[in-house]
Amino acid sequence: MESGATSTQVNLRPMHAMSVDVEEYFQVGAFEHCVKREDWVNHESRIVQSTDRILDLFASKGVKATFFTLGYVAKNHPDLIKRIVAGGHELASHGFYHQRVTDLSRGEFLNDISSTKALLEDIGGQEILGYRAPSFSICEKNQWAFEVLQETGHRYSSSTYPVIHDHYGTPNWPDEPYEPVPGLLELPQATIELKGRKLPVGGGGYFRLMPYALSKMAIKQFHKEHNVPYIFYFHPWEIDADQPKIGGAPLKSKFRHYVNLGRMEKKIAALSTDFSWVSIAEAFGLNK
Ligand SMILES: [Zn+2]
Repeated sequence: MESGATSTQVNLRPMHAMSVDVEEYFQVGAFEHCVKREDWVNHESRIVQSTDRILDLFASKGVKATFFTLGYVAKNHPDLIKRIVAGGHELASHGFYHQRVTDLSRGEFLNDISSTKALLEDIGGQEILGYRAPSFSICEKNQWAFEVLQETGHRYSSSTYPVIHDHYGTPNWPDEPYEPVPGLLELPQATIELKGRKLPVGGGGYFRLMPYALSKMAIKQFHKEHNVPYIFYFHPWEIDADQPKIGGAPLKSKFRHYVNLGRMEKKIAALSTDFSWVSIAEAFGLNK
């Protein structure tokens, strides 16, 4: 140590941002062909009980998170939105009706994200900075979406996944935060490299499928490869093992949706204990 240096250490602890995509079990991308929007009202709503359990868990573990919430959920359950904000969490947008950006025109996307932002701000009383596209559906084809997000006052998006997957993913996409248009950050979902291939380690179904010890190792590996905060994501329906089953869905969709639901809450509790978590806006210094 040089003379004059103090023993005060710079805090180089890697940061972790927790995120939750607040949508009903019947609104997920995997079931979009068997549950039409006009049928949503015929399905039992379970979002309040699942999200409240997450809020209780986070409160007991000192976790702060970003809740990417559907406008549809906010409209139907405004008290839940108020509890998310009262818990000290960041409220963010997941669009109104869980439509993939690839299915929308520029004008439709503008309507979707402006109405969702206005509604969430009205109910939550907190400025909405972040947006996550349903099924990570911003890609080569619709990069105008970044301009629309910036025009509507969003500060960041977390809408891309640089992996190969049949439902989403944009291989050869940046795997670290970047600024696609001035003033807007894109924060891709987390990946690590194995033998030249990018593996998705951001959470969701992969986290449910993998043994917890492997997921924990993957997060540590992420920090060796990337000098940026790690972002984790999951959904309230992933801790709801008793949710009604959706009929008529393809086997692969069913497997992905239902695998290991019963173990998820314990895994999230372990993750909450083993790492310290803040919201995305805080991890990236956007809430100042
Ligand atoms: Zn979603």
